[in-house]
Amino acid sequence: MENDASVTKQRTMVQAKVWILRKHFDGFPKDSDFELKVEQLPEPRDGEILLEAVFLSVDPYMRPFSRVRMKEGDVMIGTQVAKVVQSKNPSFSVGSLVVSRSGWRTHTVSDGSGAKLLLSDWPADVPLSLALGAIGMPGLTALYGLEEVCELKAGETLLVNAAAGAVGTVAGQIAKLKGCRVVGSAGSDAKVAYLQELGFDRAFNYKTVPSLEQALKEASPEGYDCFFENVGGAFSIAALPLMKPMGRIAVCGAISTYNDSSPQTGPFPHLTMIMNQIRMEGFMVGRWEHKNEESLRRLLAWKQEGKLKCPEHVTSGFENMPAAFMGMLRGENLGKAIIKA
Ligand code: NDP
Repeated sequence: MENDASVTKQRTMVQAKVWILRKHFDGFPKDSDFELKVEQLPEPRDGEILLEAVFLSVDPYMRPFSRVRMKEGDVMIGTQVAKVVQSKNPSFSVGSLVVSRSGWRTHTVSDGSGAKLLLSDWPADVPLSLALGAIGMPGLTALYGLEEVCELKAGETLLVNAAAGAVGTVAGQIAKLKGCRVVGSAGSDAKVAYLQELGFDRAFNYKTVPSLEQALKEASPEGYDCFFENVGGAFSIAALPLMKPMGRIAVCGAISTYNDSSPQTGPFPHLTMIMNQIRMEGFMVGRWEHKNEESLRRLLAWKQEGKLKCPEHVTSGFENMPAAFMGMLRGENLGKAIIKA
């Protein structure tokens, strides 16, 4: 009898593959900083669910957050779209889909606290992976950066860098929907061509222009009302003097600095900011979490109406997560970097 029970238990035991931060990143991440492990998961207890990853996300924040939110040996942080495969929690039925902060794991036993059900009426023809991109955290970041921080108005000129990425593509398209002029920069000619396809008024390859200052001036000789800043470093220093009086800068990211071993230094911006009365504000997307449901519905409606294109760069295989993460940091992605489990 006891034997039978243990056999049954073994049969239902699930193995999870997990990616561990083996060594803190020093400079640009490398393969040996990550380790793939296999974990035996316990049966979900009362109040718990078992999740199976469908799509996983690699995002720039993982690089700086690894320093401050993780210690060596921890599972890599991250979000995934997952299916509920077992449930002892009445809030989550078997078969339902969630966006879950499970980290880099194929399977997770959770009490549900880090999981949010996908919008109940998610259309069948909209890929689930968009819940990690344009109709998820990066899309919300673009929306809040423009509406809440920049307070962008029709007729204004917006500058966006890392414009061909997850956040940048959405920010540029929303600004066009709002009747703005949009200038974007990206790191390859193919990305620049794509930005033009999306309706950006001007786009340039920041890696090949002879002078960043000149390229920014030529793209908008009158200057910029708003700047959606994803890059930081030298780009930020070139753009600041080109802001119009009362210009607003939404400091969303600083990806050009994330892999620095020692901090970059540059000119002090204060006098430029004072003379032109520029407002520069850092923000984190979570500040407006109370608006997320309504905001996701707006993004989804734009997508459904054909007004929002949602490019993705999909890598197949959970085993390839570190490669996909490093590829995204190098700029291999056009649109949102996604892993199909
Ligand atoms: P992306 O999809 O834009 O991917 C990162 C991109 O950054 C790469 O594709 C690459 O594109 C570009 N890049 C890498 N290194 C450099 C460099 N040295 N100089 C210029 N560009 C570089 O990522 P996300 O859209 O997810 O994120 C964009 C930014 O937004 C990041 O800085 C991120 O940290 C930030 N963010 C902030 C949030 C917040 O709440 N504040 C939330 C989400 C994102 P290229 O080929 O053009 O170089």
